[in-house]
Amino acid sequence: MTDTIFGKITRGEIPTDFLYEDELCVVIKDLYPQAPTHVLIIPRKPIPMLSEAAEDDQALLGHLLIVAGKVADQLGVGDAFRLVINNGEGGGQTVFHLHLHILASGDMKEGDLAAGLSR
Ligand code: 5GP
Repeated sequence: MTDTIFGKITRGEIPTDFLYEDELCVVIKDLYPQAPTHVLIIPRKPIPMLSEAAEDDQALLGHLLIVAGKVADQLGVGDAFRLVINNGEGGGQTVFHLHLHILASGDMKEGDLAAGLSR
């Protein structure tokens, strides 16, 4: 598969501050935030998109969700956050290395996150 910017970031080839990291994933700030809090959870394994994940990836995918909760807590957004996975070009995905967006603002009912969801 083609390497991506997230492959380089997870391998440490592009110096990037990790807000969190473990053996399976890293968490970084989004370069172009769509909300006051906008971070990306990126598995070290370069799965191009969610729909290409395999049965073998089940534990990894579960881990990413658990990390999302922990990181949201660490970032001080508590339980007021939105988790987004854009899948495929038609789904707004631009970097073809699976990642989860954590988006949070003061009021999650406001429409200001809609852009982040539909991009
Ligand atoms: P996607 O559109 O694929 O779901 O999300 C890709 C995200 O990666 C976008 O929100 C974009 O702003 C972010 N992004 C793209 N290139 C970089 C980069 O080099 N560093 C960081 N931190 N974020 C990036």
